[in-house]
Amino acid sequence: MPEGREHIPAPVKRAVLVEAGHRCAIPTCRQIPVEVAHIVPYAKTQNNSFENLIALCPTCHTRFDTGQIDRQSMRQYKVNLSVISSRYSDLERRVIEFFVDNPQQDTIFLPGGLQLLLGYLVKDGLLNIRAKLLPTLAGSIFTNDEYHLTEAGKEFVGHLRGNEPLADLIAWAEDYWPDGRQIFYEGNKPEIFAATIKDEFGLDVTTDASWAQVIDDDEGRSFMSRGFHCPVELLGNIYYSSRWPMGS
Ligand SMILES: [Zn+2]
Repeated sequence: MPEGREHIPAPVKRAVLVEAGHRCAIPTCRQIPVEVAHIVPYAKTQNNSFENLIALCPTCHTRFDTGQIDRQSMRQYKVNLSVISSRYSDLERRVIEFFVDNPQQDTIFLPGGLQLLLGYLVKDGLLNIRAKLLPTLAGSIFTNDEYHLTEAGKEFVGHLRGNEPLADLIAWAEDYWPDGRQIFYEGNKPEIFAATIKDEFGLDVTTDASWAQVIDDDEGRSFMSRGFHCPVELLGNIYYSSRWPMGS
């Protein structure tokens, strides 16, 4: 650790590891052990925020540091991870991982009674369930449930495998933020960002009261915070896009 470099606060580090399920955040890798990596190098911005950190295995970390994985791709991994970790249960994430790892499969058999734990994949139309009866050797009957990846599910898994945006594939944000939510632009070109958002989506973020707020940090330094309210229908295009560094 270079001199003067601050430790990542323990709760932030823990949150980053939990977000990735304590595995490498790259869906086609998922190896252990994991390290916490900066998306924008610490030396550049001294940014130890959750949004700037991602869990990577040593191999992927090296590939990132040596430029074999670019920063834009890393941002997309982070965004997709955030979509999955904020929406799906641990079991659902394992089912998704199974399909990412096994592109030729579209069916998985699981013991009966797990529907509740797979409810969001079903609700989002990514998975279909068909209960199945199987005879045992003793002649009695137990149930096993057969889950099929739907066409939407195949598309979802394909996007995840290819590191393409997931957010526009599911219409779930409305459950959480029916009226939209407060988000922040975290890059260093706010004027260009604001002009692009106005141009493409007709949203003028500069009129928002939180767009130019001066915040004092713990060490007496001030910085400009760029917050604005994002309507729910634009969350996928803005917040869950890898085009800009966004936080909440
Ligand atoms: Zn990895």
